[in-house]
Amino acid sequence: MPRAFNFSAGPSAIPEEVLREAAAEMLDYKGSGMSVMEMSHRSQAYQAIIDDAEATLRRIMAIPDNYRVLFMQGGATLQFAAVPMNLMRGRHAGYLVSGNWSKKAWLEACKYGQADVLASSEDTSFDRVPTLASPVDQGLDYVYLCQNETVYGTMYHDLPDTGGVPLVADLSSMFLSCPVDVSRYGLIFAGVQKNAGPAGNTIVIVRDDLLGDVPALGDVVPTYMGYRLQASKGSMYNTPNTWGIYLCGKVFHWIEESGGLVAMRERNWKKVNRLYDYLDQSALFSPLAQGPSRSIANVTFRAPSPELDAAFVAGAAERNIVGIKGHRVLGGLRASCYNAVPAKAIDALLAYMADFESTRADAADAADNPSNANANATSPSALPRSS
Ligand SMILES: *Cc1c(COP(=O)(O)O)cnc(C)c1O
Repeated sequence: MPRAFNFSAGPSAIPEEVLREAAAEMLDYKGSGMSVMEMSHRSQAYQAIIDDAEATLRRIMAIPDNYRVLFMQGGATLQFAAVPMNLMRGRHAGYLVSGNWSKKAWLEACKYGQADVLASSEDTSFDRVPTLASPVDQGLDYVYLCQNETVYGTMYHDLPDTGGVPLVADLSSMFLSCPVDVSRYGLIFAGVQKNAGPAGNTIVIVRDDLLGDVPALGDVVPTYMGYRLQASKGSMYNTPNTWGIYLCGKVFHWIEESGGLVAMRERNWKKVNRLYDYLDQSALFSPLAQGPSRSIANVTFRAPSPELDAAFVAGAAERNIVGIKGHRVLGGLRASCYNAVPAKAIDALLAYMADFESTRADAADAADNPSNANANATSPSALPRSS
């Protein structure tokens, strides 16, 4: 069976070279006589693996020295609690609610203190990212956003000005898709299964001055979840996800050898812009995210009916195209085009969309051409383009 054209939102495609390398090292990692999975996390060999993973990540992201890198577990979801537990010192934070994930994070934060919704795009069904209408209260502990909304396919292309208030960002589905200026954030976290490795690891990048002596909520914070402690133990307070970190390290090297994050950004915009361009002229499919908010990774769209969406998904499987069903909270269709999704997968998807559309011309007419209204609202020229 050839490798699938995998558009899954996460867990998602991992570079083939990385998988081959890991397979070759499976039974005997560099003469150790064992797999990395079987190795003590306290061994010298493993320490070298985690140190190299961190060093490589620091190089590709240009992470300043005053930021710690933590490898944690519990997914991005556990960080929805860890962030307020560690950072909500005045018990007051602000949240930008742009969709499924920031709404969940906001609800979680409400358990620990006052979490104000500073802006929300829920009234337009999260088809764009909400922006701040007024200056941020400088007394807030932090301002939170999800920079790329995986479910709705939207993205902040510019960060809000929060003055001196630290910005906390969930980068899960755009982590390592493009360069980011780490110094603009107080804390970044990302579940790695979208773009950086296998599920089970979460990377936290946090500025030193936010660590404090103890977590904001003090002794009730689970020891494991204290950022300062995790930093002081080199992410090895307990047994980390050894295999996952090893594989992440390989993905980091793959990115570095493929031209780094600048090259990733160019490739990724090229891939998704081909899909957006098709959607903007299609008589059958409608794009779901407004032009200026469109994601570098998750392209959301739909056919005129749920039945046609289902038919599209079923027909895709026959062409080895998988993972294009939309998230259950939104429905429709979604193509996630992370780093490891090659251009030829976009070729295959576009060819299939055109074929599907040509055999469903009647459905497009019957649907009264909903995509035209959408095309007016979204200007392709407003899309970010790689130079
Ligand atoms: C997938 C995802 C999450 C949830 O990640 P888990 O690792 O399953 O907890 C959170 N935020 C964003 C932006 C995501 O894409």
